[in-house]
Amino acid sequence: MHTDPDCLFCKIVAGQIPSKKVYEDEDVLAFHDIHPWAPVHFLIIPKTHIATMADVTPAEQALMGKMMILAPQLMAQLGVTGGFRQIINTGRDGGQEVYHLHMHVIGGPRPWAKG
Ligand code: ADP
Repeated sequence: MHTDPDCLFCKIVAGQIPSKKVYEDEDVLAFHDIHPWAPVHFLIIPKTHIATMADVTPAEQALMGKMMILAPQLMAQLGVTGGFRQIINTGRDGGQEVYHLHMHVIGGPRPWAKG
């Protein structure tokens, strides 16, 4: 597993910065976004440091699939039944602010703050 000591989300993985955990296993961590856009808004991240979606290689195919299919399972556990969005922002023009790959999972009754 790669860790960047200057990375905010690596510090969350290490427990150096607190988070409200939704799910954790050996590969991934899901935690509530600190500035939610919607009634339910959490992030799913790989524990290993991957800066952006553009840095993903075929070696991470299973990890990416795990993140993708975890989202509906966690939304169901959180009682979200009306649908949700899974969003990955990549790079400057993609609006990425934190350079540790993360999937926004956003749902709950509308209207939402964004979109
Ligand atoms: P954007 O802020 O434009 O959505 P990103 O896609 O990089 O850019 O998203 C980073 C997300 O991380 C933001 O939604 C932000 O609220 C969230 N965030 C930043 N710091 C923390 C933290 N300590 N705990 C939980 N979420 C955080």
